[in-house]
Amino acid sequence: MDFSISPTIETLLAKMREFMEQEVYPLEQETAGKGFRELIPRLERTRQSVRDAGLWAPQVPIDYGGLGLGFMDHALVCEELAKSPYGMYVFNAQAPDAGNMEILHQFGTDAQKERWLGPLTSGDIRSCFAMTEPEHSGSNPVWMSTTAVKDGTDYVINGHKWFTTAADGAAFAVVMVVTDPDGELHERASQIIVPTDTPGYSRVRNISCMGEEGEDWASHAEIRFEDCRVPQDNLLGGEGQGFSIAQARLGPGRIHHCMRWIGISERSFDLMCKRAATRETAPGELLGAQQTIQNWIAESRAEIDAARLLVHHAGWRIDRVGAKEARVDVSLIKFFVAGVMGRVVDRALQTHGALGFSDDTVLSHFYRHERAARIYDGPDEVHKSVVARRILKGYGMGK
Ligand SMILES: Cc1cc2nc3c(=O)[nH]c(=O)nc-3n(C[C@H](O)[C@H](O)[C@H](O)COP(=O)(O)OP(=O)(O)OC[C@H]3O[C@@H](n4cnc5c(N)ncnc54)[C@H](O)[C@@H]3O)c2cc1C
Repeated sequence: MDFSISPTIETLLAKMREFMEQEVYPLEQETAGKGFRELIPRLERTRQSVRDAGLWAPQVPIDYGGLGLGFMDHALVCEELAKSPYGMYVFNAQAPDAGNMEILHQFGTDAQKERWLGPLTSGDIRSCFAMTEPEHSGSNPVWMSTTAVKDGTDYVINGHKWFTTAADGAAFAVVMVVTDPDGELHERASQIIVPTDTPGYSRVRNISCMGEEGEDWASHAEIRFEDCRVPQDNLLGGEGQGFSIAQARLGPGRIHHCMRWIGISERSFDLMCKRAATRETAPGELLGAQQTIQNWIAESRAEIDAARLLVHHAGWRIDRVGAKEARVDVSLIKFFVAGVMGRVVDRALQTHGALGFSDDTVLSHFYRHERAARIYDGPDEVHKSVVARRILKGYGMGK
């Protein structure tokens, strides 16, 4: 097995690390307490610096103005960029746009690429991905009610979605819709591109989460489709390919999520160690001399290292056997790494005491926002069940 990192990527990572420390971490305090929309001009200046430094859109193919990194090299980049809440955004590698760029590149027609992929990769527009519905369990992705019915040269869409991340301010949504209600379970749905200014598309509200409605990219919306009419040319891939496209996006996408979570764990770990090594509990007595804190540091180090090795291994398996065959490996990292991140962020916050609870460090942001990692892209329990069923199969249980 070989998880070595090429010298070119090592150099790129070092450059990104330096950029993050000099240009992105300082944004956290400069922008504290401000809404995302107000920050856009400031963030745009940093985005321009990213372009000028030749680091723009690491995951995007070179002919679309990106760095053209392969999926494991991009995974390494995700760890660096996720160390600040603004990192992925200022490098134009943020969800859900990165996933939409990927599926447009892979499945889009030339016309779709020209209209949507070009402006997305240059950072001129944003997008969202609408699959989950409030009326149905998102853990059972084949169960949905949003339909698209053919009428002349159009599709007419009716339905209700929620937790559509970044819908506020998005130019278009990639929407998962049922096109063949009587078809085979995994061939009932399709993905259709819906410009957000189409009559019949409405953003009902940004859903308040953990005390914040959020805005623009930093929000999750409820949306409705009422006789929303788009040309059939807006179909992404073929009819009935909705789930296979979603799978193509989710398998490698989960590797990138997990590497982001490792970046968040590393940043939290670093803050925890700095605090432990400098905070005095009495004159001359450092917090880091307490055994509980030492335990947290040692346990966190072991857990983060284990998590990273597991993710690299899952990525290596995807490269070798493909995303479908590696799906148990991917389920394993999805719940394991989310759990490690949750524990490390919590320990780091606790080590900072009231300062950790305040918004004077990035830890409270991580604590509130990253809890969702155990829910989206499949809750912990679903992924654990996938892993356990595969193991029990080896013991003769189930098919
Ligand atoms: C911050 C955030 C961002 C999101 N962004 C998007 C987005 O951009 N686009 C989009 O379409 N969706 C998005 N989602 C929705 C997300 O994909 C769903 O929340 C997720 O699939 C779970 O579905 P659900 O919320 O309906 O929970 P449910 O399916 O109702 O499950 C609730 C709980 O039941 C338990 N459970 C469910 N099934 C099982 C099972 N088989 N075995 C054991 N226990 C089980 C789990 O504990 C689970 O947490 C986002 C969600 C969050 C929190």
